[in-house]
Amino acid sequence: MKPYLYLSGLEKLTKRLKGNEVVHIGIRPYGFHAGNVLSLVVYPYLLCQEMEKNKKKVNFKFKISINDYEQDFLDGPDYRKYPFNIYPKNSSFQFMPDEAGCCKDVVDHWQPIMENIILKIKKTFPKITIDFVRNSSLKNKYYFKSLLLETLKNPKEQAKIFAKYSGREILESPIQYAGVICPKCKRAHGKTTVYSSKRILWECDECGFKKEDKYEAYDYWWYHKAMLTARLKILKVQVAMSGGDHYSEGDYNIRRKFMRKYFRKFKEPVMLFCPTLIAKDGQKMSKSRKNSEYTDIKKLIEVASSTYRSEIKISDNMIKKVKNEKEYNCIF
Ligand SMILES: [Zn+2]
Ligand SMILES: [Zn+2]
Repeated sequence: MKPYLYLSGLEKLTKRLKGNEVVHIGIRPYGFHAGNVLSLVVYPYLLCQEMEKNKKKVNFKFKISINDYEQDFLDGPDYRKYPFNIYPKNSSFQFMPDEAGCCKDVVDHWQPIMENIILKIKKTFPKITIDFVRNSSLKNKYYFKSLLLETLKNPKEQAKIFAKYSGREILESPIQYAGVICPKCKRAHGKTTVYSSKRILWECDECGFKKEDKYEAYDYWWYHKAMLTARLKILKVQVAMSGGDHYSEGDYNIRRKFMRKYFRKFKEPVMLFCPTLIAKDGQKMSKSRKNSEYTDIKKLIEVASSTYRSEIKISDNMIKKVKNEKEYNCIF
């Protein structure tokens, strides 16, 4: 099997799809800039449109996973140079306060904004379904729990896979891809020791809280690459869509290796990678790089539907000025 890349990959992929497949896309619940819109709105839209062009039914079941178990911000010795020596700066998104101050937390702030826009695809393709799944809600599912425990116990095995397939250098330490969120101070810094699923010891570096309890009693942060494997399995995903940056990080091979190593009898989903959206400064658009812009979604659909390259560079006429992100939901 080969990865399906960008617009030509999308066109090829639609030739083999029936139109009723389960399609997965994940997003961090923090911002909804043009790069996010390209993979969460524009590419799903183009996938449906291409099916119609091929005179096929469009009954896709989209599963949008809201990655609230991911690190709030990346931290580590040098997370751009050593992307696999990372840990959360403070906590997971699940426990990140709403920066705008109007909601219980950052997930409650951003999820409705994303939902409002993504659900508009149904106006053009009414037979598709779109479900939103918070990663935290999968915590007690068998495959989630087993792979999370494995990630807590043996992170070095996963580091080896990342090093082999990404070609990136990895430092000896720190190597951890999941951890307990302190039940008391809700921060992620501390030591998680797994004796068994019924006995997990948490020792907090921030507030000194110490506790031994069963798996179900805690919340966790979890690096997205391993966590994705669990989601693909649980949601019975047939098509996994992702941003192009994942392809350049070696994720196509990393995921296949994870699927084979951790889950037997895994029917591998096909993988479609979208182009990477490049900001005006020439870097990949990202909220943490502070180069992100909102986009006029119709214009971005127009550009993306005729761009076969691995990158789409934002231009002034694709940018939409948005004062309050809650107003962004009416633009489509
Ligand atoms: Zn809010
Ligand atoms: Zn604590």
